[in-house]
Amino acid sequence: MEINYTKINHKLYYSTVLVVITLMLLGLIVDNPLLHHLGVGYITHGVLVFLFSTCLLIYPKYKSHFLRIIIIIVASTYFYTIFFLYPNTWSNFIFLCFIPAISILFFDIRLFYFSLLVNTFSIISLFSYIAMVDQGHLYPYIREDLIGNIINFLGSQAILYFIFYLSYGRLKKQQLYYEQIKQSERLKTTGQLAAAVAHEIRNPLTVVKGFLQLYEKDNNNVNSKRHYSLMIDELNTAEQVISQFLSIAKPDKDTQIELVNVKNVLQSVTDLLNTYGLLHDNKIVLERVEDCYIAANTIEFKQLLINIIKNAIEASKVGDSVVITAERKKDLVEINVIDRGQGMSKEEMNSLGTPFYSLKSKGTGLGMMICFNIATKYKGTIHFDSVKGKGTTVTIRFPAKLG
Ligand code: ADP
Ligand code: MG
Repeated sequence: MEINYTKINHKLYYSTVLVVITLMLLGLIVDNPLLHHLGVGYITHGVLVFLFSTCLLIYPKYKSHFLRIIIIIVASTYFYTIFFLYPNTWSNFIFLCFIPAISILFFDIRLFYFSLLVNTFSIISLFSYIAMVDQGHLYPYIREDLIGNIINFLGSQAILYFIFYLSYGRLKKQQLYYEQIKQSERLKTTGQLAAAVAHEIRNPLTVVKGFLQLYEKDNNNVNSKRHYSLMIDELNTAEQVISQFLSIAKPDKDTQIELVNVKNVLQSVTDLLNTYGLLHDNKIVLERVEDCYIAANTIEFKQLLINIIKNAIEASKVGDSVVITAERKKDLVEINVIDRGQGMSKEEMNSLGTPFYSLKSKGTGLGMMICFNIATKYKGTIHFDSVKGKGTTVTIRFPAKLG
């Protein structure tokens, strides 16, 4: 059984885009006055439909700022072109007013202001052209009430600005809320790990303290050389546990994208979580871990792995191991976290990622939601493969980078 969290969003996007493309094709084919004498105008119309459709179809794959600007430019050219090609279809004018609405879909503030500004300039030029050159010949409905049309246009831009302002504010608030949840979930995780870490540090400290007490009594101990290296080893262990712990506990003000060495991160996360697993005699085994790299923020990537491995430990029976593999498969890095624990039913898997969904008495049910968000942020995916009572395999995939 396998589920993909981002599938639903993709389905919705592609079905909307297909409706838009179908409508554009209908406009091109059905009862088109230019269809009878194929000329430059009709070909331009066709090329623009093709370009606009391609941009919309490839957008989910590339999602770059550059592509968004291209989409706005192609869409504007498309709507202005059909306005000029089909002067009798007066409703084309409505599309011109609503061009900036496209950038609302992208929630990009700079792009919105850019398209609002460009559209206002274009409309001013268009109205000047109609008033002075065309003189109402092809566009009588605009010329006859020029002032009324200008006011309507300004009104439509104000409405768009208002819609953008409201929805953008709401989105920002939601983002802030999510950041706070992410932070508090990490504090909770670090709090839980702290108990295991403290336990782990106490052992080396007891050893070192024991030796020091011994020396206090007897200064001529012949074994002291050997004991010193033992003490240093123990203190090194404690130091390592503390630094691994601190590397996830520090606040993430700057979530910079870095080249992350997956093998190193897995090693450090495993070392840290092994202390947590020891509480119930669970071990984490790194198997077949290849050298591979991804582009992400190290702390966020660690948080994702910790959440998933911690879930695997918590689902495991006393004494069982959690196996982790990591390898490069074509242009992807694939990490598997395999447990032989309680597993999940289909319904339980479908609820994964829903905020506050947890079957644990002390769970928050936020871990998986955060994992899915981090994965999506760095163009990764998380798949679950689980059988109730048998165990779970979580497959995490990220685009591979060259080290
Ligand atoms: P929490 O760990 O706080 O409960 P999560 O979002 O991390 O919240 O997980 C949600 C739920 O998904 C868990 O309560 C658990 O029931 C289920 N789950 C997650 N991973 C596994 C797994 N490896 N095996 C079995 N159940 C799991
Ligand atoms: Mg969890």
